Amino acid sequence: MVGYRLVSREYCDKPTVVDVLGVKIGSGAPPVIIAGPCAVESREQLMETARLVRDSGAQFLRGGAFKPRTSPYSFQGLAQKGLEYLAEARKETGLKVITEVMDADSLDIVAGCADVFQIGSRNMQNFHLLRAVGRYNKPVLLKRGLAATVDEWLNAAEYIVQEGNSNVILCERGIRTFENYTRNTLDLSAVGAVKYFSHLPVIVDPSHATGKRHLIGSMSMAAVAAGADGLMIEVHPTPDTAQCDGEQSLNPSQYLNLISEVVKLAHFLRTSRASYNEFY
Ligand code: PEP
Ligand code: MN
Repeated sequence: MVGYRLVSREYCDKPTVVDVLGVKIGSGAPPVIIAGPCAVESREQLMETARLVRDSGAQFLRGGAFKPRTSPYSFQGLAQKGLEYLAEARKETGLKVITEVMDADSLDIVAGCADVFQIGSRNMQNFHLLRAVGRYNKPVLLKRGLAATVDEWLNAAEYIVQEGNSNVILCERGIRTFENYTRNTLDLSAVGAVKYFSHLPVIVDPSHATGKRHLIGSMSMAAVAAGADGLMIEVHPTPDTAQCDGEQSLNPSQYLNLISEVVKLAHFLRTSRASYNEFY
């Protein structure tokens, strides 16, 4: 099964570079860093994290105002208030904001503060939502469904591009396997597979992929070495008190250490090899 056309290498062999107000994703330059809390919890929590993320040299702040939670009793996000805090953090720090949009009805309000719409794993095959963001003039981060094949993921991207929005960034965030130590299994081969079959950029989210703080560093380094165009990392001022995903969030010093290692690795890779194409 293939099915997709516009996102394929046959259609366009040149890698797509998604330009988010001057920040280029997929250009072969150092990987972009998207970091922030799982959920926007308060103004203080978000502003403190945003300053840390800016000072680390990252380009994007992440944070959910609308949270897709497994249990309806879990914290569901601050909704409109969360968007307002994101807008404020964006204004103060100059970081670009990426936040999840869960349904087509909230596209307009999310668009008010988001530079990139995030489509979460659970909505990867919400075709109505994919079409709706496809009609919007704003980049989209499309997370891989938790049980989706690479083919299904690329077909989901096709729905967005087919509507006219070619600014799609894919995000590998782990898939469900029989292994249950990690929250999901990070499928790093998907980075190479996507680049082989598609011209779209692909980033990696080691936080949701592993669910374990102690694995985020090694999996981030592996993702960059595998050729990922960026990383999405959860960071929280006090992970132990986080309302959501604290166990997979780095604290500020762990986060800063990791970013400095990633920067060194990216520099090494840039100066030591021209392209992974050499391996084919
Ligand atoms: C998230 O990044 O906030 C999130 C909910 O991740 P996923 O959709 O990959 O589970
Ligand atoms: Mn999370």
